[in-house]
Amino acid sequence: MKPSHQASANELEKQLHYPLGDALPAPGASLTVAAGVKWLRMGLPFALNHINLWLLRDEIEGRPGWSVVDCCISSDKSKAQWEQVFANELEGLPILRVIVTHMHPDHIGLAHWLCQRWQVQLWISATDFLLARIGTQGPTAFGGDTAAAFFAAHGLNDPESVEKIRGRENYFFSLVPALPRQYRRLQDGDVLTIGARQWRCISGYGHAPEHISLYCEELRLLIGGDMMLPRISTNVSVYDQEPESNPLKQFLDSIDKFRLLDAQTLTLPAHGKPFTGLYERIEQLHQHHRERLAEVMAACTARPCSAAELIPVLFKRQLDLHQTTFAMGESIAHLHALWFAGQLQRTLDAAGVYRFAGRR
Ligand SMILES: [Zn+2]
Repeated sequence: MKPSHQASANELEKQLHYPLGDALPAPGASLTVAAGVKWLRMGLPFALNHINLWLLRDEIEGRPGWSVVDCCISSDKSKAQWEQVFANELEGLPILRVIVTHMHPDHIGLAHWLCQRWQVQLWISATDFLLARIGTQGPTAFGGDTAAAFFAAHGLNDPESVEKIRGRENYFFSLVPALPRQYRRLQDGDVLTIGARQWRCISGYGHAPEHISLYCEELRLLIGGDMMLPRISTNVSVYDQEPESNPLKQFLDSIDKFRLLDAQTLTLPAHGKPFTGLYERIEQLHQHHRERLAEVMAACTARPCSAAELIPVLFKRQLDLHQTTFAMGESIAHLHALWFAGQLQRTLDAAGVYRFAGRR
């Protein structure tokens, strides 16, 4: 992702192990990663071009079937891939429940379709359910003027970008057009009996409002969702809905909870390949953000900087507008971590842009 860090990224990846090698499930087919745990991989029309979903052999009230973890975006292509899965991978059994790790479109998009088709419930954290429900109220529920003003206050204020950001307000709704009206709540520490196994819910913050990962001690398996990815670092952004949040601290505190899991745990990530080396990955992510924070600190100590001015410091490649909005969120997240820690001071300049300064 970042050419100047490429060499070290490759070095870091060697510390992780991929027990399944380069094997990937074919579209509409699965790979078994453990007894009763099937890996599905569906295509996405983004730079991040795939998502991993999981089928867990289940039995609810004496009825055998499958639990699904995560859903893919709402599109005809993803529905077609699910149809293949229904035909070839369910062993003649039904889907019994839909579990969603968090509210992002690639995870929750087809939840309404899956729940309706199989007449089953959606299991998700309350915070993510409620925010996603707001997002499905219509194409203007998120973003628009609020997002444009938020990014402008952080320095992305050229008229063309402002106009384009304003125009992106239907992004969530286009990928998540509906959601069930009811849900089953998942909370940190809840234990779900899925078939013969127990899976514990582990909440995570900083990426989504209340992300839920699932850990099966017996199988030493962690369904990490987006909280524990092997190659790319999880997007950690400040959003316009909560403009003074501190998500980077929340994220780093959250991944430390995984240090309590078995060292041999096989992590099943939402993007990339299943891997072992959980403790190494936690440390790599801390190191990655320590380095980014040091770069931000150095830039802001040389002169007061806005989040937009820091993008070339943090991202050494050309970004399109969609990537720029993600990069802005990340840039603000790093500034806020230092600001909340008292290392940076924030002022509003004459142009109405927030600038962050280190003490000289
Ligand atoms: Zn996500």
